Amino acid sequence: MIKFFEKNKFLKKVQDFRSFLVLTILLILSVAIIHIHNNYKDTQIKSLKNLSQNTYLQKTISSIFSNLNPRFEKINYRVNAGDSFEKILIEINLNLNEKKKVLNFISDEKIKFNIIENQKIVFEIDNLNGKKIKKITIPINKKKDLIISSNNNNSLQYKELVKELRLVKTYKENYIRNSLYKSAIEKKIDPNVIIQFAQMYGFEVDFQRDIKKNDSFQIVYEEFKNDENKTIDYGNILYANLILSGKSLELYYFNSEKEKINDHFEANGQSIKKTLMKTPINGARLSSSYGMRKHPILGYNKMHQGTDFAAPMGTPIMASGSGRVLKAGWCGGGGNCVKIKHNTTYSTVYAHMSKFARGIKKGVRVSQGQIIGYVGSTGMSTGPHLHYEVIQNGKKINSQTLKLPSGKKLKGKSREEFEITRIKTDVLKSELINKLN
Ligand SMILES: [Zn+2]
Repeated sequence: MIKFFEKNKFLKKVQDFRSFLVLTILLILSVAIIHIHNNYKDTQIKSLKNLSQNTYLQKTISSIFSNLNPRFEKINYRVNAGDSFEKILIEINLNLNEKKKVLNFISDEKIKFNIIENQKIVFEIDNLNGKKIKKITIPINKKKDLIISSNNNNSLQYKELVKELRLVKTYKENYIRNSLYKSAIEKKIDPNVIIQFAQMYGFEVDFQRDIKKNDSFQIVYEEFKNDENKTIDYGNILYANLILSGKSLELYYFNSEKEKINDHFEANGQSIKKTLMKTPINGARLSSSYGMRKHPILGYNKMHQGTDFAAPMGTPIMASGSGRVLKAGWCGGGGNCVKIKHNTTYSTVYAHMSKFARGIKKGVRVSQGQIIGYVGSTGMSTGPHLHYEVIQNGKKINSQTLKLPSGKKLKGKSREEFEITRIKTDVLKSELINKLN
């Protein structure tokens, strides 16, 4: 019994000693590891510090410092060809559970979005208890982001967020050498702005024939830029000036919610808009005027009861005045045609279209300058052109010699408000020009 006891005591001593030994070895090992690690960290930092004073390297160093133990991490992921959202989640090293949670959330909530090559998806990650999604920002389009984020009780939620855009006012000017379009492109003006500019003058100026050597233009317009300073969208043309043969044709943008006005006016408050446009198309050439002519297909002399404008296939055609669409369909010899009733006196017809603009159908209201269709050669036609007719009190008339009543002139309160806008715009223009010099 005693022997047994003593043996037991001896064994216990050995066991105690063994535990002590293991503990000591562990202690020595951890001290050594910490020492080596610190040493390594020090030499790494020292060698990096010694490399250069270059700011890029300094940035790298600071990011290494902050990455030594970051709780929050931001990953800007640029989408590669063939990426799926799941693949991206694996790529950013999300663990299986977190990945599953995100994917399930997306399918449960039926969230739809596209992953497009080169698009930037931003992941904000919390590393406190393993990688956890704090926020994912996925661009839906130029103006909207999809945000998936984690709330306090660790469940996911989502919303669409309109991106914050900065409004910038831009001044450009140039001589018009070959065409307005080319001279504007030369100054890096967006085609949408050029078209808007041309439409503003469409009632007064034939850009094909009225432009001469040394003619020039000035323009002040609004651009919306994102946080990367990229232009995302365009606003209004605040000021436009077309200087033809030394004569200025200035137009000011005037928006008054109170007076329900949103349009461009000449300096004297006169709207440049006439009841109908002479040329409801830009960049076209008048190819056949109103009157007697030998019909190009029928071959005999026939009254041409409209005006033909030759233009490339697909050139947009505008409503020459505001009104209601009476017809948008097949007109036999006229091919695809649109007929618009403007008021009790005037209607207009546009024929041979290749296609109608989206939403253009019988009964729809259109505004002056709105695109209603595109140049084609449908029906009885020998090549792409627009056949344009003006009907006055039920009778077809020559649109090119028609004396059109002009648009309204601002009076009273709205005129006073316009004067303030005009002065502000002139000041803005001068400031922008000064900035250029
Ligand atoms: Zn014709």
